[in-house]
Amino acid sequence: MVEYPDSYYAAFLKDGKKTYPVLMDDHECDVCIIGGGFSGISTAIECAKKGLKVILIEENLFGWGASGRNGGQIWNDVSWGIELIEKKYGIGLAQKMWGISQAAVNLIHERIAEFNIDCEIAHGGIHAATSSKKFREYITNADYKLKTFKYDKLTVLDKKEVDYEVGSQLYYGGILDKGAAHLHPLKYALGLVNAAECLNVQLYENSSVKVVNEYTNHIEVITNNGKVKAKKIAVCCNAYLKGLNIGIENKIMPCATYILCTEPLNNNLQKMILPNNYCVSDTNFDLNYYRLSSSKRMIFGGAVGYSLKIVEGLKRRTQKQLNKVYPQLQNLNIDYIWGGLIALTLNRVPDIGMKSDKIFYAHGFSGHGVAFTGIAGKILASNIFSGKTLELEAFERIKHKSFPGGRLFRMPLLVTISSMQKMMDIFNV
Ligand SMILES: Cc1cc2nc3c(=O)[nH]c(=O)nc-3n(C[C@H](O)[C@H](O)[C@H](O)COP(=O)(O)OP(=O)(O)OC[C@H]3O[C@@H](n4cnc5c(N)ncnc54)[C@H](O)[C@@H]3O)c2cc1C
Repeated sequence: MVEYPDSYYAAFLKDGKKTYPVLMDDHECDVCIIGGGFSGISTAIECAKKGLKVILIEENLFGWGASGRNGGQIWNDVSWGIELIEKKYGIGLAQKMWGISQAAVNLIHERIAEFNIDCEIAHGGIHAATSSKKFREYITNADYKLKTFKYDKLTVLDKKEVDYEVGSQLYYGGILDKGAAHLHPLKYALGLVNAAECLNVQLYENSSVKVVNEYTNHIEVITNNGKVKAKKIAVCCNAYLKGLNIGIENKIMPCATYILCTEPLNNNLQKMILPNNYCVSDTNFDLNYYRLSSSKRMIFGGAVGYSLKIVEGLKRRTQKQLNKVYPQLQNLNIDYIWGGLIALTLNRVPDIGMKSDKIFYAHGFSGHGVAFTGIAGKILASNIFSGKTLELEAFERIKHKSFPGGRLFRMPLLVTISSMQKMMDIFNV
């Protein structure tokens, strides 16, 4: 029987978790969704709200993938950076994407209120600069967002202010984003599952989709024990997609990242570290992202690995990065450490689209998916229900190249890029 990874989130699920059946025998529906993370559940909720008959199939447990194990940080913007989108595609598309990223953040707050989800939401996040050059870039970027999008939730923090807010001497300055937030991702995912169930979505776990067959008027989805005849499908497997025969896999590259969770901080440490309970993301390519849990444990994510086989090395690197940011925490026990897969696209923009008029997909959230997955589900549902929308067209304009080298040889290129970026971090450029 599949279990959740040994994460802090899974260990403290208060009421345990409701179980759902394995898909058996033959079924029919309007929309079959493959993958029970944020994007799949969001698509299911939005399709059900439109009155469609929906089946959601998850290979493991709902929220078992990245959605139930991530850092819980909610940020505006897309990973690639909205300025780059403007430079390459013009202000029209940049405005559209910025609007979608704002709607993505708002949607989380709306759903928490609508479905009464207890997921420990807290407000505010800091981008912390690991070099003076990056600090200057942050300031320019904040100015750009204010002028271009009237986004006025950003405050520049100088060295003294960032030291105080983060409780670390490591940074050169930072930007406080009052529009950012953080939450307990597994509780949020399971709250959404509960909402989907209330909307009559048929939910199946421990059911792996093996084959998808497209016919003129329907799609056949085959699992080990059952079969679904659907008018349309949405594939929402992100980094855990493997071997499904629909030809989108090479657009993403799965990478591993690790999170560790300390024992609770004592009162003295609590006063010094993140006194206003903001989450933090810093600018290393090996991005550090961290926050306190509601129980005042440090939840610290770090090292990204381009080989999925070097687990011990990644754990050590994450711990080393924690010690670098917070030398004062190095004697704390690490109670939990767990990893998960993120899906990178080559340009770091999510890949949301359709393979045919019956096969829709969303993936490649590039480590920035807590907010974007929700809106991706909403976009997919609108397209499934009423044909192509302006939002989908906006995503289609941003072309996604396949990772060179195919499934087996995607890694080396990215390792080279990553090593170059690390050198730049070390030399503060
Ligand atoms: C450690 C970690 C930390 C992160 N931190 C952050 C953060 O702080 N902020 C942020 O914005 N983003 C973060 N992310 C990224 C974010 O979690 C993801 O972008 C997001 O959760 C992706 O959601 P998803 O629903 O698309 O995919 P997932 O949640 O991965 O769900 C995909 C699901 O598909 C299922 N599946 C796969 N194949 C099949 C099949 N054949 N049949 C049936 N089901 C299948 C899998 O079992 C899985 O449950 C982090 C990711 C990780 C791993």
